[in-house]
Amino acid sequence: MERSYVIKPELGKAYPKISHGKGIYLYDQDGKEYIDGCGGAVTASIGHGVQEIADAMVEQARQVSFAYRSHFSSDAVEQLGAKLAEWAPGSLNWTFFVSSGSEATETAQKIAIQYWQEKGYERKNRIISRWMSYHGITMGALSMSGHVMRRKRFTSLLADYPAISAPYVYRKPDELSIEEYAHKRADELEVAIRRIGKENIAAFIAEPVIGASGGALVAPAGYFERIREICDRNEILFIADEVMTGMGRTGKPFGINHWNVVPDLMALGKGMSAGYTPMAAAMATDEIIETITKGSGLIMAGHTYSANPQSAATSLAVVRYMEENNLVEKAAVHGEYLLAQLKQIVADYEMVGDARGLGMLTGLEFVKNKETKESFAASVGVGTRVLQRAFAKGLIIYPAMSGADGLVSDSIIVAPPLTITRDEIDRLLGILRAAIEEVQAELKA
Ligand code: PLP
Repeated sequence: MERSYVIKPELGKAYPKISHGKGIYLYDQDGKEYIDGCGGAVTASIGHGVQEIADAMVEQARQVSFAYRSHFSSDAVEQLGAKLAEWAPGSLNWTFFVSSGSEATETAQKIAIQYWQEKGYERKNRIISRWMSYHGITMGALSMSGHVMRRKRFTSLLADYPAISAPYVYRKPDELSIEEYAHKRADELEVAIRRIGKENIAAFIAEPVIGASGGALVAPAGYFERIREICDRNEILFIADEVMTGMGRTGKPFGINHWNVVPDLMALGKGMSAGYTPMAAAMATDEIIETITKGSGLIMAGHTYSANPQSAATSLAVVRYMEENNLVEKAAVHGEYLLAQLKQIVADYEMVGDARGLGMLTGLEFVKNKETKESFAASVGVGTRVLQRAFAKGLIIYPAMSGADGLVSDSIIVAPPLTITRDEIDRLLGILRAAIEEVQAELKA
């Protein structure tokens, strides 16, 4: 084996080398074909190897790839900003560009804090987040993340922002209606605000559909409307983390569009450039940006690569491609089919307890006992076993495991490119079924 000098996720493990990709397929250097059933990390939403994007990248590279944002703006970045303002709800018209989802949530956090400072509230600088959540890996973003496993080694360095539980409809107490449950969970925010003091809180952050720590957990109807009302009443900003749910993934432009709510800030990433370049953003309302403009006039955030023309042109080509190919609408239609098929998997396999999701962001949860919904011990790692079997058979899916709230949610995410056809969904599910079958037999043996 050739010597490697690269630090990889699992040290000592041999990874196949990627050769190329086309549509929903990836090919390694040994010629093995994989269905990219999760767009890598819910990222490759227009599929691989799209010629139009390659052309746009080359065209921009010929003109200029990098010009620093403190010196120049560019057509690409202005047009992308205008496009995002068209897509975003309400007066979320302003975009600050960064390069990763973690930078996006952290920038949204900083803009929220700065907004209150510009208004003269020096102490309003704390964020409230939920225990079942993932907002990124850098220290500020990890401080907001309730993902217990990812926090563990750094706890002493992190702010204790996670303060409330997220709704988990699959495990809702039977005696509560969906509406009562949605309100009960949302009202935890009110209790946390009273405990911490609204004079100390800048914003509340949440994923409209919980990804990496929940396996496509969808908030119940009424939840975010109640959250919005609590935030308004207590003068706290609401940040929607749309890094995974944004840009059409859930069958609407943004995940939060499924509720009758407009956030004050949004964090975007992943599908924004569909993996063709590192690109992410924080979006803010007119009110926030006008306040900062009238105040100091300087946003205290930004990175070297923020708003670089190369990434902006690439992302712009991706968003245009999505529009020209009606991919948001397709995600809604194919997502319904995908979820119906996943529900059939729940019916067919003893160890699959729940199928859920919105649009092309779907998940399966594995349980030891379907009736009691008892989870497997974390050490069993059923999702990981299914994922490994699927990978060996040429299907890539995404892990989602969390130990929040004393529970182990052992789940996987199925989130293929939005360009996938119905036949391709069937092919994907055939491999997934075979992997689940093998793991179920293994656990029984
Ligand atoms: N927010 C959410 C909801 C995510 O799912 C992720 C990544 O999985 C992030 C933030 C962090 O994004 P990145 O990995 O690009 O830093």
